[in-house]
Amino acid sequence: MGIRIVELLIEYSTLSLNRPFTYIYLKDKLIDRGFRVLVEFNNRKIVGYVLKVEATNKTKEQLQEDYGFKINEIIDVIDNASLLDDNLLELADIISNYYLAPKIAVLQAMLPPSLRPAKSFFKAPKIAYDQYLIVKDINEEGLSPKQIEILRFIAGEEKVLKKEIKSISVVKKLLDLGKLDIVYKEKNRLELPSFEYSEPKILNNEQKKVVQQFLSSDEQVYLLQGVTGSGKTEVYLHICDEYLKQNKTILMLVPEISLTPIMSENFIRRFKGQVAILHSELTPAEKYDEYRRIARGEAKVVVGVRSAIFAPLKDIGVIILDEEHTESYKQDTTPFYHAREVAIFRAKQYGAKVLLGSATPSLESRARAQKGIYHFLRLDKRINEQILPLTTVVNMLDYHNIDRDSYIFSKKLREEIQLCLSKKEQIILLINRRGFSTSISCRKCGHVFKCPNCGIALTYHQKDNMLKCHHCNYMELMSDECPECGSTQFLKTGFGTERIDDEIHRLFPDAKTLRLDSDTAKIRTKIQSTVEAFRQHKADILIGTQMIAKGHDFPNVTLVGIVLADIGLTMPNYRSAERVFQLITQAIGRSGRGDKKGRAIIQTYTPSHYAITMAARQNYDLFYKQEMQIRKSQYYPPYCFMASINISSANEEICIETAYTCAMDLKQQFSNEGEIIGPSAPYISFLNGKYTRVILIKYKNNELAMNIFKKVIESTSHKSQIKVELKIDPYDF
Ligand code: ADP
Ligand code: ZN
Ligand code: ZN
Repeated sequence: MGIRIVELLIEYSTLSLNRPFTYIYLKDKLIDRGFRVLVEFNNRKIVGYVLKVEATNKTKEQLQEDYGFKINEIIDVIDNASLLDDNLLELADIISNYYLAPKIAVLQAMLPPSLRPAKSFFKAPKIAYDQYLIVKDINEEGLSPKQIEILRFIAGEEKVLKKEIKSISVVKKLLDLGKLDIVYKEKNRLELPSFEYSEPKILNNEQKKVVQQFLSSDEQVYLLQGVTGSGKTEVYLHICDEYLKQNKTILMLVPEISLTPIMSENFIRRFKGQVAILHSELTPAEKYDEYRRIARGEAKVVVGVRSAIFAPLKDIGVIILDEEHTESYKQDTTPFYHAREVAIFRAKQYGAKVLLGSATPSLESRARAQKGIYHFLRLDKRINEQILPLTTVVNMLDYHNIDRDSYIFSKKLREEIQLCLSKKEQIILLINRRGFSTSISCRKCGHVFKCPNCGIALTYHQKDNMLKCHHCNYMELMSDECPECGSTQFLKTGFGTERIDDEIHRLFPDAKTLRLDSDTAKIRTKIQSTVEAFRQHKADILIGTQMIAKGHDFPNVTLVGIVLADIGLTMPNYRSAERVFQLITQAIGRSGRGDKKGRAIIQTYTPSHYAITMAARQNYDLFYKQEMQIRKSQYYPPYCFMASINISSANEEICIETAYTCAMDLKQQFSNEGEIIGPSAPYISFLNGKYTRVILIKYKNNELAMNIFKKVIESTSHKSQIKVELKIDPYDF
């Protein structure tokens, strides 16, 4: 076999290296586009990703001469089959162009971790036994706060499966230090939970109409707006059934599997062995297996989270996004893609349909449905014909509503909790903040405990007696005295889930509670077991952050309390009202889903804010109207497009200077075709030794904007001390 000239991408995701490199392959293994290869680059062995292969009759020396520089050889070929089919390779180009992201970064995002064109391509060894961690030495001396956190956590649980702890490196260190020990137990073979088959339900008239409209129309994208409890899942299942009959495959996206195992359960019940599950909690090996099962065509239905949009299915018939408004569909690292946009690109390749479902659609989607860009479908009634929960808004500024027994729970909320408990019904309490108190300061000198990395106040966590930064995860042990004046008296202000739990125990000592937030979710399977325990009524009250608002179906819950609705409302982000509205509406929607009437209490300091009044009335349409007016008058999406450019550097001066030149440049190029805001310092402007400035750009002409962005990024990306990131339609800035 002759020499082959190979063009490949390498794992270096700055835009300046976003171009193919040429190598030659002299050996005779099979090599084709989509394969990974091992090459040397700048004296390092790295993995490359083949874009193009061309055979030649020339010798190595002739080629050198032709090219005028030394061409390196490919050391080895890693794969023996292409990882991505032609459609997925084409999709990578589409995404790379749409988000102006390096193609290699797109490929990284598309592949499961064990297949990424990265250094670590060696497959993980097979594990024959499960390894459990136990605490061997409880002495915390000399340990870092992160290590202590894990040690205390494992001590509290007695025995924890090693692979379930997310902080692998901390565990390793603790093992090395002899603080932890491993005990081996024979491994439970991993398999999908087996559920009994369940017959399709007979659709009610509303559901039937929706299914018929979806199947009979030939438009591409559909928005299904269905109130909470209107039976959207059953609609999805019926639609999938139709496509399976036509021998097409189905992609079912959900925000987060561990939060809503019910969706995968429903799909497994209905479609059994044809279902593959893809989510972030699977180990790399498990993901790899599922991925291959899909690629081999054995699984026709994929239920998965955001990245499952890249599942190697063939002949896709329909792509469904449940809870389409959820922000976890947006990737918050390069290439910053949104699964909804990718779904539409991907569906086009197959002539497939896209179904977006939600009780509270994102404003963009609803606006598109309104304009007829998406086909608009609705389910306005709950399945059980129950009215939506009866909701009361309690003004926490009005002292009539509060008494000295508690300043966190109003009289009204306490009464309702009492009533619910006495009827043996269940309660959900939402507080969208974890921890015990949101800031802690010295009573004597006023010193506030702040994060040394990003400067925001540290949150006190009582269970492990630690101070944690909710932004960068920095943590330290709570000290007994003030580092400034030595006083031992502290003031704790603000409250989170942990404090609510505490308060409930004080006021209702007999009530059993469960807590669900990202602290308790340190263990992979903890979320599922908590949700399951609550569903089986092993506790009366579930306390949690936004995690508890999503898609759960707890038939015995008749009261939902929003402990403080205002959290997040004052964030300087044009989406904050939409976020709060969606969160409250979804949370209230957990009440009264069974045969008993539901109630909800919203506690707030801004009882007349439209996001709160409309959520209390569960009236999405009114909220939509009002919010659209505001977006229009302030010129925000969906009335324009928006992008952000983040500029960061370890050198503050260079950061600020580059940001200013960049903004000037943008202003000049956009002229009156766009609005440039900033540069400004973001909420966290200094993180891990890097300064950041943000420029926001609002525009109408997408093509023009893309050309300008390309130029601006290219002109800054060669500077070595500067990192420039472009986000199309940013969620946080
Ligand atoms: P949504 O996702 O719209 O909030 P779900 O899909 O969770 O609502 O449905 C709510 C409940 O109604 C579920 O328990 C579901 O099994 C049940 N359900 C849905 N459709 C039907 C039907 N046609 N007949 C009987 N029960 C149904
Ligand atoms: Zn002090
Ligand atoms: Zn921090």
